Amino acid sequence: MSNHYARVTTAIPGPRSRALLDQWRSYESDKTGYQAQVAIERGLGAILYDVDDNAFIDWTSGVLVTNIGHCHPALVAAVQDAAAKIMNVYEYCNAFRADAARDLIQAAPHHLDSCFFMTTGSEATDAAVRIMKRATGNFEVLSFYGGFHGRTLSTASIGGLKKIKNRMGPMMPGSIRAPYPYCYRCPFHSRLETCGLMCLSFLDDVVQANSSNSLAGLIVEPYLGTAGFIFPPEGYLRSLEEWARNRHILFSLDEVQSSFGRTGTMWAGDSEGVTADIITVGKGIGSGIAVSALLARSEMLDSALEKGELGSTYGGNPISCSAVSAVLKVLREEDIIDNVSRMSGIFRKGLLEIAESSPYVGDIRGRGLVWGIELVEDKASKTPSPKMAKQLIDICAENGLLIGCVGMFGNVIRVAPPLVINEGQSVESLDIMSRCIAKLQAC
Ligand code: PMP
Repeated sequence: MSNHYARVTTAIPGPRSRALLDQWRSYESDKTGYQAQVAIERGLGAILYDVDDNAFIDWTSGVLVTNIGHCHPALVAAVQDAAAKIMNVYEYCNAFRADAARDLIQAAPHHLDSCFFMTTGSEATDAAVRIMKRATGNFEVLSFYGGFHGRTLSTASIGGLKKIKNRMGPMMPGSIRAPYPYCYRCPFHSRLETCGLMCLSFLDDVVQANSSNSLAGLIVEPYLGTAGFIFPPEGYLRSLEEWARNRHILFSLDEVQSSFGRTGTMWAGDSEGVTADIITVGKGIGSGIAVSALLARSEMLDSALEKGELGSTYGGNPISCSAVSAVLKVLREEDIIDNVSRMSGIFRKGLLEIAESSPYVGDIRGRGLVWGIELVEDKASKTPSPKMAKQLIDICAENGLLIGCVGMFGNVIRVAPPLVINEGQSVESLDIMSRCIAKLQAC
């Protein structure tokens, strides 16, 4: 099968991929999620190549990581520059860290003037929980059904996904969860047109029943990522912030996957004009290099924790920080966020057409370049179909498109290409998806 960008000339897996997959699994226990059976050799922009020289259009961006595209030359150069000079000085000041902090704060919402670098998204969100507790003296944290904030015990505790905490209990005391507006499967079985955002008014009931009057703050994703790209209705986040303000609790936004242009604005919170007390970031900030950060007002950060109370071996290392500055420069100078807005229209139209033509697509939702295709056994019953999601992953790989699946039920296809995907690649990849979903009917 050969298109303009995608090119698959072997069966999947090809012989070299098969050998590497066998080698890998004989030495490392494979606890990864379901994915196409290919071994990746290299990537450029929105294209990934496997070791058999098949070329795939990438709808995964790692896992919403490579915002500025795979191996962007400016990022490669920045990493090489730091690697050749200095790789790790732990907490000693260095120019890469000082520059990255300045660049990040200059790109941040105006009310946030301080940051702290860490390595993973889980670590940043864990730090947000610590800061909320220390800043308020309270220990309870409100979070949401389906929320994903990481895999450490504290972030798993505030998470709302069974898979993350499966038989790991007891969880962190003070974790209180409320329903998120998953309108396709409304927890209240209501309709958006008439519900008056029942999930918001229900928050007081949740607090009334579960809190011991020690609520430090709430933490929320601008859209639920791992739970299946579930976008709240317009106005929800703004109203949620207002709710938090009226109850004098902190409002923390987990932008680990939603920031740096993914939704068509620098920050996903921008579209609702929210002014979070804490924002956590990861993934796209390094576009492939492991780095995360927490942003807050300096007065809160400075007073909540004492010197030496936050830090990690690789947090703020020169290579990661050099990457942060390079990513922010590329985002600024190469109009990548404009590209997201342009490509978003193509994806919206193409995905809606796919949804209409397939009996197995229950819902399409998204913004910018992050969309979910929710697969169901049939549109009337809405029964989730994780089996079809797996089949689709394999069929798409055979046709030159790499996708992944997420969701509370594992039935949501992740549509999240690198933000540099061009028009030809967008159209071609949608065409591949359309053909593959049609094949699914025969499975
Ligand atoms: N928060 C959100 C919203 C995420 O999507 C993720 C990762 N999927 C995390 C936190 C955890 O990030 P990491 O895997 O880098 O620890």
